[in-house]
Amino acid sequence: MTAKSAAAAARATVYGYPRQGPNRELKKAIEGYWKGRVTADALRATAAGLRRSNWQQLADAGIHEVPTGDFSYYDHVLDTTVMVGAVPERHRDAVEADALGGYFAMARGTQDVAPLEMTKWFDTNYHYLVPELGPDTVFTADSAKQVAELKEALALGLTARPVLVGPVTYLLLAKPAPGVSADFEPLTLLDRLLPVYAEVLADLRAAGAEWVQLDEPALVQDRTPAELNAAERAYRDLGALTDRPKLLVASYFNQLGEALPVLAKAPVDGLALDFTDSAAANLDALAAVGGLPGKRLVAGVVNGRNIWINDLSKSLSILGTLLGFADRVDVAASCSLLHVPLDASAERDIEPQVLRWLAFAKQKNAEIVTLAKGLAQGTVAITAELAANRADLASRASSPITNDPAVRARAAAVTEADARRSQPYTERATAQRAHLGLPLLPTTTIGSFPQTGELRVARADLRAGRIDAAGYEERIKAEIQEVVSFQEKTGLDVLVHGEPERNDMVQYFAEQLTGYLATQHGWVQSYGTRYVRPPVLAGDISRPEPMTVRWTRYAQSLTDRPVKGMLTGPVTMLAWSFVRDDQPLGDTARQVALALRDEVGDLEAAGTSVIQVDEPALRETLPLRSTDHPAYLAWATEAFRLSTSGVRPDTQIHTHMCYAEFGDIVQAIDDLDADVISLEAARSHMQVARELAAHGYPREAGPGVYDIHSPRVPSAEEAATLLRAGLKAIPAERLWVNPDCGLKTRGWPETRASLENLVAAARTVRGEL
Ligand code: GLN
Ligand code: ZN
Repeated sequence: MTAKSAAAAARATVYGYPRQGPNRELKKAIEGYWKGRVTADALRATAAGLRRSNWQQLADAGIHEVPTGDFSYYDHVLDTTVMVGAVPERHRDAVEADALGGYFAMARGTQDVAPLEMTKWFDTNYHYLVPELGPDTVFTADSAKQVAELKEALALGLTARPVLVGPVTYLLLAKPAPGVSADFEPLTLLDRLLPVYAEVLADLRAAGAEWVQLDEPALVQDRTPAELNAAERAYRDLGALTDRPKLLVASYFNQLGEALPVLAKAPVDGLALDFTDSAAANLDALAAVGGLPGKRLVAGVVNGRNIWINDLSKSLSILGTLLGFADRVDVAASCSLLHVPLDASAERDIEPQVLRWLAFAKQKNAEIVTLAKGLAQGTVAITAELAANRADLASRASSPITNDPAVRARAAAVTEADARRSQPYTERATAQRAHLGLPLLPTTTIGSFPQTGELRVARADLRAGRIDAAGYEERIKAEIQEVVSFQEKTGLDVLVHGEPERNDMVQYFAEQLTGYLATQHGWVQSYGTRYVRPPVLAGDISRPEPMTVRWTRYAQSLTDRPVKGMLTGPVTMLAWSFVRDDQPLGDTARQVALALRDEVGDLEAAGTSVIQVDEPALRETLPLRSTDHPAYLAWATEAFRLSTSGVRPDTQIHTHMCYAEFGDIVQAIDDLDADVISLEAARSHMQVARELAAHGYPREAGPGVYDIHSPRVPSAEEAATLLRAGLKAIPAERLWVNPDCGLKTRGWPETRASLENLVAAARTVRGEL
């Protein structure tokens, strides 16, 4: 086929769509079902209605081929577990008795049965349920959901393409089931899994699927030769099937790297590749393998995970290059649109001009359709769209929001020395010891105390105008008083104000920083029925006025013990937002860091001697490919140091991290040069303390001795045992005693009891020194 006919055939498609509905109808129906207020049939009807309206929305926008099977009541990896019959033993009876109820039991657990573990879907903020596999796992095909959803779309007269998690990715995402050796590699089950996929593919073919998409995002990560070999075998075997639909193997979130030649040679009918900036290398790599002769190429040129408008001319030029590489080139978003909110036009509080810079799922559909049209019919067919796009891009590029000369000048003037404390740690430690006068094994918490119903009511009252700012301030102060007096009474050494004024650790700061936008309806799925509304980091960042000082100062006025100031670090501020794509992430992080640096300075000036800058996202934002790690860690650690290094030597800087294994970033943790770090450790029995010690980590650390993820109260003896384990790795002079994370999701009764036990444990172990 010539480039010209490849162009003429260009079609628009997407891989998946937001599931929740315009008003989060799905969340409401599922939670209603959990509470027994919505019947299973009513839930199914709501879900079917949402699928139908999504497909209609896609078709009305001009998307030629719609995805099916991407819908989920909870998570598409869990759906895949059901599809391949890998339901864990402990859930099997429940699933057999009631498929829907059993499905949610796997996702959320029950009183007696633990759920599947949940973890992040690659480097997004979506979480999936981890398949549990072992040498005894027997797979059986259950294509019912996929087939039913395909038939629904076909019945609407649409061209539909089922989307499945591919077999290699499914196995690479799995972990050994409980009781199975940790060395077990799920990928060894490939030969057992492939026949099940073959059966599902045959069922889909029989139900009318011309194409089926198999998603293999795991192949954009560093993969061993054995893993690449497994991918080769998988697609050789599936490709060799006779009774099958055409196969489209999709990858996204990064470049395919070594996996590209493997898939290019595979006997499948098409590849879907990411061609957005972070995966730009796919373009040259595709040329290097000689293109995909005889195959369909689906080009992900519209970023499926950010909320910015596409640069249509740039995408067209990429698409133009791609025409020479394949038999047929189609246009798509780079990944499922699951990761973006539904519709920017629902936003009422964003200035119309700025709103034109934003593209949520619905706007991305239009971009994809425009690009496919431009490709098929030539740019003259989209003259008006191109002109409007150029104008919007120009307005964004020249806006005062994205160009604050003062912020830019300040960021440009930052020197290496600005990101260094004035004295090395050992000297600072001496000064801090003299200044703070803390006992050995000092006790503290991570920052938040229980976010009570009353606090949420107070915030809602303030928003609704039922109370004024002064009334709100009264309620917050009352809460701070209670938190401070409890900590004094309990005997904690370094106190916190409890963060009662914060709705969320990122949103709270985003609302106060210039350059951030808030959305009203920008919900995206985090996991199950949990949706978050990430703030939009749209422009140059500055801090018009102090953000936390008055609360910390108030708390400090109530006590003689040191009160720790509490901030969210620059990396986490980026990680849990939609970040601007018009400059390197490191530049954006530096601007946030400078704003935080001013806050740190103001806290110190207000008499705060201990300041904690939380970076729970440092590990999770680590790029998917190890070649990208050094550059990321360089800007990330620099941004942290820039925000914290302006203080006096005797001011103690803390940081905090959780949710992760830290083994592979200990050097980065060291590079933060924080005086004290608190880390999640209770469930791994202080593993991180041993990792820090093995690295020779020279500063103070508080591996958590209280697992805050459940209401369970650890006994004083249990906390003491963990503390003694910590002491084996970290000497008493440098060991802190604290919980794993903040207490905002906990209730007061267990918080009280647990912290009393934690202080008792510290006293006991101090007595043994
Ligand atoms: N200071 C925050 C809190 O205690 C930290 C939260 C987090 O690490 N996720 O809530
Ligand atoms: Zn935490």
